[in-house]
Amino acid sequence: MLNEAGSGLISVRYIILIQNYEIHCLVPDLPAPQAVLPYLEEMQANRWYSNFGPVVGRFEGAMAKFLKLDDMVSPMFVQTFSSATAGLEIALRALNLPAHAKVLVPALTFPATALAAVNAGLTPVLADVNDCDWMLSADVARQIHANTPLAAVMPVAAFGSPIDIGQWEKFQDDTGVPVILDAAAALGQQEISPKLIHVFSMHATKPFGVGEGGLLVAPDEAFVAQAKSLSNFGFLGAGGVVRQVGTNAKMGEYYAAVGMAQIDRWTEVLGRRKEAAHHYFAGLQGLKNAIKYQKGFEELVPAVFPVYIQAGAQKVIDRLEAEGIQTRRWYLPPLYEHPALTHLEKVSVQGDGILPVCEDLKTKLVGLPFHGFLSEADINKICKIVAEETL
Ligand SMILES: *Cc1c(COP(=O)(O)O)cnc(C)c1O
Repeated sequence: MLNEAGSGLISVRYIILIQNYEIHCLVPDLPAPQAVLPYLEEMQANRWYSNFGPVVGRFEGAMAKFLKLDDMVSPMFVQTFSSATAGLEIALRALNLPAHAKVLVPALTFPATALAAVNAGLTPVLADVNDCDWMLSADVARQIHANTPLAAVMPVAAFGSPIDIGQWEKFQDDTGVPVILDAAAALGQQEISPKLIHVFSMHATKPFGVGEGGLLVAPDEAFVAQAKSLSNFGFLGAGGVVRQVGTNAKMGEYYAAVGMAQIDRWTEVLGRRKEAAHHYFAGLQGLKNAIKYQKGFEELVPAVFPVYIQAGAQKVIDRLEAEGIQTRRWYLPPLYEHPALTHLEKVSVQGDGILPVCEDLKTKLVGLPFHGFLSEADINKICKIVAEETL
């Protein structure tokens, strides 16, 4: 869900102007410069701009509170990164898996899930998602693991909907295969598991945006310390020596300043998104036989607004685009159709490597415009068009 033009600091009108759409699919909702200023002043007074500075430290503490980690049954640790992609790659590296070992990934996700595994020196294998929540299930992973031994699994919080953590805790307990939740788009929606590794994104296009940023949340202090070291070239301990080949994937103080301001206004951001979702659910209510949502979708504050169109999405997309309304096909095509990823192995429970749910979703899903700056009139207009093109 990347590549929206511009940052949230550019005015909404400007983005629409350069994109030439009357209604834009995604408009980032980031704090105004004035709201960030107090935190930037704090940074400037410190004259400390990166390398795990005080504002990043404060932001990590604030995120632990935001995620209510103090209420968990056992300690949890947080670490910021330059992006979720970097956080996923480093989390995989910090598991110290054998080179080229297989990591199970759903074929319906943002490509970064698989790219992180490739860049960590591992081999992603692609599985189908189930047809109700459009996510990889632990049942499927368990059956695949019986035939194709896996070194790790990366379930994805598809479209920002939370992953059911219970099934993955049990999978990890039973198989000993570590689970990393790619909950990139689900910060604020994903329930935290005391047993699992979570990675969140704070890219501008995510509901909780700071511009660029990733957050690792995990129960193992030594693992998080190793991940932190890997984000700082692999320096660890006294003496300033590299203990393991790392990279530079630290979050800088400027982004942490935006993050602090974003926490301050989160209720407001969430409120706008809730209201937009509410108007959509009301506007599309009459289409219940023609369209379908992801399971549980109506109970959460969505990150994006994917809708399954029984008759196929193309007519809806063409009509909306013709009316100046931008749509996006989030997570499509499936990973196996990206030219750089066509060589990846597809695995299925039947053993035939056919992924029927992804094949079906490929032509049926459309991402309707969804952000906090849509008016009720915008949404009504979109719903009316969707109704005309589906009924
Ligand atoms: C956005 C996203 C990412 C990448 O996050 P960045 O912070 O932009 O690197 C990874 N996985 C999923 C599922 C995403 O939605």
